[in-house]
Amino acid sequence: MPLKTCILCEKRLKIHQRSPVNKHVAKYLKKNFLIETTQDQFICGKCSRPAYYAASHQPSCAQQPSCASTSSLPPQNVLPNSPPSIKLNIKTTSKSHAYCFICKKPGPKLIVVPTSTRTETFIQHNILITAESRCCPGHFKQNGTSYEENVISKLSTIDNVFLNRSSLLNLLTAVREYCVCSKSKRLSFDDLTTFSEEDMLNLTGISVSNFLALLKAVELSIRNTPARTVATTIGIFLFKLKSGLSNKVLSTLFDVSKSSVRRAIQTSRKVLMTDFVPFNLAFHTFHAKM
Ligand SMILES: [Zn+2]
Ligand SMILES: [Zn+2]
Repeated sequence: MPLKTCILCEKRLKIHQRSPVNKHVAKYLKKNFLIETTQDQFICGKCSRPAYYAASHQPSCAQQPSCASTSSLPPQNVLPNSPPSIKLNIKTTSKSHAYCFICKKPGPKLIVVPTSTRTETFIQHNILITAESRCCPGHFKQNGTSYEENVISKLSTIDNVFLNRSSLLNLLTAVREYCVCSKSKRLSFDDLTTFSEEDMLNLTGISVSNFLALLKAVELSIRNTPARTVATTIGIFLFKLKSGLSNKVLSTLFDVSKSSVRRAIQTSRKVLMTDFVPFNLAFHTFHAKM
């Protein structure tokens, strides 16, 4: 029995509203929505209109430059539009403006996918969301910049994408900027190469080599936790001594909870008193050496 709902918007259709899915519509649905259709399905007038429009305005070109441009950055010295001749085996989403690329519902309240979201989705899931793709605002998490977990797993995608030189360049630039930003987002002592000798003195009061020596002295007594490494634990303690900032501010700076900051300071203080101070600083060291 033929289905009596529109294949695209899933609206129930009265008899006079049903149009059969002909070859133009079938091609349009496959290209834009990845929907495979059969002869006995129906589409409503509203959903089929763009198909006829596309058929009459874009004579049989499946790879318009504009379709393949996944440009995600503001155009910076744009290259003349080269043909989208670079085929990459990267999953990509539907390019339609008229329908949400996630749930396939038609507009009107669809939004442009933010550049940051597209870059993040590409980096974390290896899926390219095109600049042309639109989606409902409801698919975003509270933070408004990334998608709910189940969105990505259910996403229907095309297996490869054709890019031209400028869109590939834009993609690389976006990824590079993402790397640079996320690296400098929060303070962390895990990678000391990001600090100059002067930075280290400003933040902790000791040099990089002294910091490393300090870590060596306490590494058996402090454990790495999922929230912070030994280096960050000691770093938080020294930074607290140097700056006198509240634990609340430190928790924001280091991207750990307030209680984790408190524990880091406690642990460092205790361990330094047992493992470091007696061997290096205290009066009785001096005494013992006499
Ligand atoms: Zn419809
Ligand atoms: Zn949607």
